[in-house]
Amino acid sequence: MSSKSVAEQQVTALKKKLEAAIQSRSTLEEDFSVQSSLLIQFIGKLSLVSKGIDLELDNRLAQLRTLFTKSAPIAEIESKIAVITKLLQQHSITNEQNLTRMHEQFNMAGESLQKINGLPDNVRRTLRALLKETKTSKDALVQYIPLLSQLLELYDAALKAKDAPPKGGLLQANNVALAKADSKTATVDESLIERISASLSALNLSKEHTNELLAIKKKLLNDTSNEEVLQHFLEIFDVIVADFKDEQNSAKNFLTNLSDTLTTVQNAVKETLTSQKSSQQANDKINQKLQSQIIEMTGTVKKALSLDQVKSDINEKLQLIAGTLEQKSKFEQQSQQQLANQLKEMAEKVDFLEQQSKIFEEKLAAQQQKSMQDALTKLANRAAFDDYFAKAMVRFHHQAYELALVVIDIDDFKLINDTYGHTAGDKTLQVIANTIQKHVSKNVFVGRYGGEEFVLIYSATSKAELVKELNKINSYVARLPFKFKSNKVSITLSMGATHIQQDDNIHIAFERADKAMYQAKSQGKNQVVYLT
Ligand code: GH3
Ligand code: MG
Ligand code: MG
Repeated sequence: MSSKSVAEQQVTALKKKLEAAIQSRSTLEEDFSVQSSLLIQFIGKLSLVSKGIDLELDNRLAQLRTLFTKSAPIAEIESKIAVITKLLQQHSITNEQNLTRMHEQFNMAGESLQKINGLPDNVRRTLRALLKETKTSKDALVQYIPLLSQLLELYDAALKAKDAPPKGGLLQANNVALAKADSKTATVDESLIERISASLSALNLSKEHTNELLAIKKKLLNDTSNEEVLQHFLEIFDVIVADFKDEQNSAKNFLTNLSDTLTTVQNAVKETLTSQKSSQQANDKINQKLQSQIIEMTGTVKKALSLDQVKSDINEKLQLIAGTLEQKSKFEQQSQQQLANQLKEMAEKVDFLEQQSKIFEEKLAAQQQKSMQDALTKLANRAAFDDYFAKAMVRFHHQAYELALVVIDIDDFKLINDTYGHTAGDKTLQVIANTIQKHVSKNVFVGRYGGEEFVLIYSATSKAELVKELNKINSYVARLPFKFKSNKVSITLSMGATHIQQDDNIHIAFERADKAMYQAKSQGKNQVVYLT
């Protein structure tokens, strides 16, 4: 082999090595560029994530990013990284502290919420689970974000539950109706107003207050916004309170008068006794004087020496006695007059007292009657019916008689209210009540059981007579010429009747009459059904 070819071979080998070196360098550079771009991206993302946590950290990370982009010397990059590492260490400490604080605050907020009354069950349950889940501290603040958001939701639910009243119960139902809306334009449930109106009708107040109540009731039927209804309710309470106060005052006045009169009478009696005693004493004195004058006269006779002397002495003494007698009669007249005056005065006072108690008695009787009377229809009310029927049942079980019970319900009455208004409904109830009362036989108990339902109690009527009379009443009512808003309307009744049987009790008997009434309804209304 020549020396040239050896040299050529070495050059070729060197060239290859160089090419390989260049290649590997370029791969290295490529790798570096990919890695540094990845690093820049990473730092960029890290900056984004940590942005806002610490301004200095933000700045340092931005500087590091620039250094990398500029391919700055590694020493410079290293020093920046050292600063950032320190910052991050500080951060980890603050983070730890924040975590502890957040844990405490979270649990405190949860426990405060737990203490709130009236939390809905589901809210309470979820809250308990949430607090259990957060019993041990979390590893990172971010882990609190979903928990916090859940806690906020629970707070929101609790707030809403506080605004909305609980369900069930009349009063609560009222609240629901009232709370249905909170704005001025929101309206109150109509059925609530109807219920209130019906309750108002049952109130027995003085004439003046009843009129005031009627006026408010009228307003209540027109003004249905939440605020207006609330206002009217307050007015109603005012009227009721005023009526109670009046009643209380009138009772108080009577008692004051009674006490005054009794004191006067007591004083008069005392005075009479005293004056009687003193006049008795005066009388005794006069009597004593008379007696001693007579004794003196007798002595004069005994001691007298001559008839003439006797005559003149006796004359003198007789004159004295006559004077005393006149004094006595005058005194007697006087004290009699005084006594008469005192008696007269006393009688007047007692008379006045008697008059007052009579008025009060009448008032009490009227009130008692009122408490048994339905204010709207003036028929006996439910309490009166219960009382009457219970007594009738006791008599029946003592000795059976033709005792019958009738339950009457107006057909489609709600439609009258809904179409023509509650006032028209009230008028209708009055007219129907009057018609029933007018057409039942004598001695039949007629009562308003409630709402648009009436009850009758017959005491000596056979089934045939009873059914005949009820049908008659039914057709009277059906023929009543009702006219609402220039519409002619016919109103009918459904009646259920039954006679009381030996093994009935109040409850069973009423159920049977009620069942008969419902049968009348289901058979097409406007009819009488009798059940044995
Ligand atoms: P049915 O033929 O099945 O008896 O139907 P109805 O509409 O008569 O019966 P429902 O029980 O549905 O309605 C009775 C209505 O009576 C509802 C209530 O508003 C009304 N009501 C009850 N008491 C009074 C009252 O004192 N005055 C007025 N105006 N309406 C009343
Ligand atoms: Mg009814
Ligand atoms: Mg009805």
